[in-house]
Amino acid sequence: MKSAEMSTGTSRTCDSDHDGRLIMKEHFRLQVDKLFNMLFSSTSTFIADFHDKRKSTELCMGPWKNGKDGQQVRHINVTVALQANVGPKSSKVTEFQTMRACSCPGEIYSIDVLSVNEGIPYADVFNIATHYCLVRSENNGTDMLVFGNVNFIKSTWAVVKAFIVKHSYEGLSEYFHCLSEQLQEVSKKEKK
Ligand SMILES: [Zn+2]
Repeated sequence: MKSAEMSTGTSRTCDSDHDGRLIMKEHFRLQVDKLFNMLFSSTSTFIADFHDKRKSTELCMGPWKNGKDGQQVRHINVTVALQANVGPKSSKVTEFQTMRACSCPGEIYSIDVLSVNEGIPYADVFNIATHYCLVRSENNGTDMLVFGNVNFIKSTWAVVKAFIVKHSYEGLSEYFHCLSEQLQEVSKKEKK
């Protein structure tokens, strides 16, 4: 890698509107392709270990396939452990992932994830949309942004909505806090 390239970052931009709440904003000393592979390749041991630590089971990561308009799509199935003292102890989650056409290896990855739950109360009422932005930074590391949105697909009572919104954002914060910590561990080792 030429030193000039190392300080340029990228001129590419993400074409997402970056809707929703900013859930995570972190810098990692990892090259953007490496971070992408850790989070989104179907052979990633990092993400398998991460789910393992969270006591998630039945992780099944599909391969990326060509979608419409230059997009790449894949889906993931995983059964996640729930922390609550009452109610179900696990939930089946399907993640529909779309890599936007503005993504470019070595520069930027822009990925939309739609998460659908099964096996929890009101699972059919909502879904959770997250957007991952992995952008090559000036020092050839990566700036990572994650936005989250709770979508209601069926009408329900305001009190139920408020409950779902509260718990969904708490869940997202907790998940990405843990993910960020694990990524920083790898990132710190990278520097040595
Ligand atoms: Zn983005």
